Amino acid sequence: MVRVGCHVSIAGSIDQAVGRAVERGCDTFQIFSRNPRGWKAKDLDAGAVAAFRERVSASGIDPVFDHMPYLPNLASSNDEIHGKSVAALAAELRRCELLAIPYLITHLGHHGGAGTESGHGRVVSAINRALVEAEGGTMLLLENTAGEKNSVGTTVEELRLIMDGIEATERIGVCFDTCHAFAAGYDLRTRDGIEAVLGAFDEQIGLDRLKVVHLNDSRGDLGSRLDRHEHIGLGFIGEEGFRLLLRRPAIRALPLICETPVDGRRGDAGNIAKVRELAG
Ligand code: ZN
Ligand code: MN
Ligand code: MN
Repeated sequence: MVRVGCHVSIAGSIDQAVGRAVERGCDTFQIFSRNPRGWKAKDLDAGAVAAFRERVSASGIDPVFDHMPYLPNLASSNDEIHGKSVAALAAELRRCELLAIPYLITHLGHHGGAGTESGHGRVVSAINRALVEAEGGTMLLLENTAGEKNSVGTTVEELRLIMDGIEATERIGVCFDTCHAFAAGYDLRTRDGIEAVLGAFDEQIGLDRLKVVHLNDSRGDLGSRLDRHEHIGLGFIGEEGFRLLLRRPAIRALPLICETPVDGRRGDAGNIAKVRELAG
């Protein structure tokens, strides 16, 4: 049995996310704890926090993931943006503590032309600062990116380099996004390709640091560097790729979160059912 779920909306009030996850048949789910398109977050309402925590425990869903909003850029070479991004990351870690969410997922940002090395240094200092500012048990998960222009954290080697710079090693893990990896050039359609990426991951980072998989098919072809998600099995990775992936013990033991589209072809429950079918 695999643990699978999807991203759900907190519209109305954050505790309403739990009912939506249950409706879709989630064993695990992900949220944005606030509007992902703004810098400012409204403080969480104490009643909604209590209701969220109660509903999560009553549902049996475990674990819950929070995802960082879009605007913060940990790799920015601009001091003002970098500072605001550190503050946003620390604030989000604190929200996770309040909500009893064990994992916060973040992208590593864009260096804006300053170069990969500069980007890595900025990300490392941002994370070290935020983890000092926001104490607690929430683990920060670094998500691999599709390799769009100037983006940081696309390869296993890059994630390893960044993790090496982080002081609180026990508070850092990884989120592996299958669409991003495929777009970045990791071939997840074949046994050999899957073997290669998981082998590199294990050797350089350690599979024990992998805490969640963002299970998304890809609308862009191998190495396209396009961050466009597709329904499971209907994109360039395809059903056979997911069947092979989901057969790997290192993958099927992890919480699997679909960040797939909702359209006339399929919704969240449909993708979750497809994952269960392909996992056997
Ligand atoms: Zn993400
Ligand atoms: Mn993702
Ligand atoms: Mn994406």
